[in-house]
Order: sequence, then C-alpha cells, then structure tokens
Amino acid sequence: MSRLVSAKDMLNKALAGHYGVAQININNLEWTKAVLTTSQELKAPVILGVSEGAGKYMTGFKTVANMVEGMMESLDITVPVALHLDHGTYNGSVACINAGFSSIMFDGSSLPFEENLAKTTALVNACDVLGLSLEAEVGSIGGEEDGVIGMGECADPEECRKIASLGVTMLAAGIGNIHGVYPENWPGLRFDVLEKIRAATGDVPLVLHGGTGIPDEQVKKAITMGVSKVNVNTECQLVFAAATRQYIEEGKDLKGKGFDPRKVLAPGYEAIKEKVKEKFEVFGCVGKA
Ligand SMILES: [Zn+2]
Repeated sequence: MSRLVSAKDMLNKALAGHYGVAQININNLEWTKAVLTTSQELKAPVILGVSEGAGKYMTGFKTVANMVEGMMESLDITVPVALHLDHGTYNGSVACINAGFSSIMFDGSSLPFEENLAKTTALVNACDVLGLSLEAEVGSIGGEEDGVIGMGECADPEECRKIASLGVTMLAAGIGNIHGVYPENWPGLRFDVLEKIRAATGDVPLVLHGGTGIPDEQVKKAITMGVSKVNVNTECQLVFAAATRQYIEEGKDLKGKGFDPRKVLAPGYEAIKEKVKEKFEVFGCVGKA
C-alpha cells in the first residue's frame, strides 16, 4: 500500500484556502530527506518533483519511488506527499505511472497544440483510472530545463481553456516566468495574462514554474490570483552548492574525519531545509497538512 497521495486534494484545498503548495525537486537521498523532514516539521503538504534527468541520475523512476516510500516509512512522515514527474515526455509519463509515482506532469508544450491535446487526453484517462493527478502545460516556459530551451512566451488563454476542459488536475501556463536564474532585466510576471488564463480555465489550480528569482511579493500575488502550486528547483541547488563550497573552502574536509561523506553533505542538507522552510512560509502552506 503506497503512502504517496495524488496532488489533487492538496491543490484544491490550496486553491480554496488561497495559499500555495510547494513542488520541491529532488536529486538524491539528501535532497529527499531534507524536503520530507522539513514538511513533517512544519506540517505542510508537499510535492516532490523529479525531472526525467534526475530520475535517470538516481538510476530510474522505480528506485526513486522505492526510496521515497521507504523514507516515508522510516521517518514516519504523515503529511500528504505526492511524488510527481516534472516536465515528462509521453513515454516518461507512462514509465512513472508504472513505477508508482502518484502524480504526473506531461509537458506537451513543445508539440503542435493538437498533439499536446491528444496526448494529454490519453493521460487524463489513464491517471483518472489510477487515481493519480496530472499536470499539463500550455505554452513553453522560458529558460532551460533538461536541455529543453523554452522561448518564454505567455500561454494562449484559449489553448489553456481547451486543455483545462480535458479534466487535468492542474495546469502550467507561461506568464513570463523562466526556469533557472532570471536575467537582470526581467520585466516581472504578467498578471494581466494570469487573469485571462484564470478566467478561461475556471477552477483548475494553476502552476507557477521557475520559482527561483521571482520576488516574493509577485509570487504571493500570483497565489491570490489562482496559482496553487509553485515549483522550486534552482534555488535549492544554489544553496546546496554554496554550503558545500563553504565547507571545502574552510578546509573542514581536511580536519579529523571531515572527509566523511555524511559530514561533507551535511551543510548542503541543512541549507536545503532552510530554503524549503523559507519557501513554505512565503507560499503560506505551513500548518496546512
Ligand atoms: Zn518547470
């Protein structure tokens, strides 16, 4: 019996309660443990995001699902946790369904719209039968993810309406957001577009990708306008790398048993926990589990 849950309930509650649920992407055991323990400590529901690249890095989706399930059991994690494929291809989506993920993002945004619509429809049906949540994407999101470069255009509200009407659990739609680090001259989120997408999609929870570098006030405003899930990835990578760099630069690995991998990785682990806590507070999901 899986301990993982679909993201559907947590997102519908977030939409009704005007707060955001965090999707934190994981890369390894330390990342996963940091996110799970912080979520439990702060009584926050959480979505663990796994890109196809991260899944491959961890040797496969089955390994990831088994690690998360095992860790939830050994750490006695009782807050709602969804294990979610991030920016999946069609084949990747099918592989994650088979591997025991509880939530899927099918990113057909680079396909011709009719093909995105057809493949999303097939996955809506498969996920429905299995009780999994499904995120769809319309209009590519700027920046770079797993080698896919988006152009950063805003999504077309009419295309959003068509995809939302298929019965997807949540919808990612570009509103000027970018993956990775934002350029200095970034003009900010397009709230006018968000308003049109909200009006076109009814009560489908919306997803904000590329959370790193969007000013907190803009994220909070987007949440009040119907964004119920905010994805965080790059920011955890940056603090993990900085904390690890500091440990090495201070020569701590050269003192005593400082070379022990559990010691080398500890500052990065703590830095992720701190960043996740900060994000939960901004999104308003503390105590919502
Ligand atoms: Zn994304």
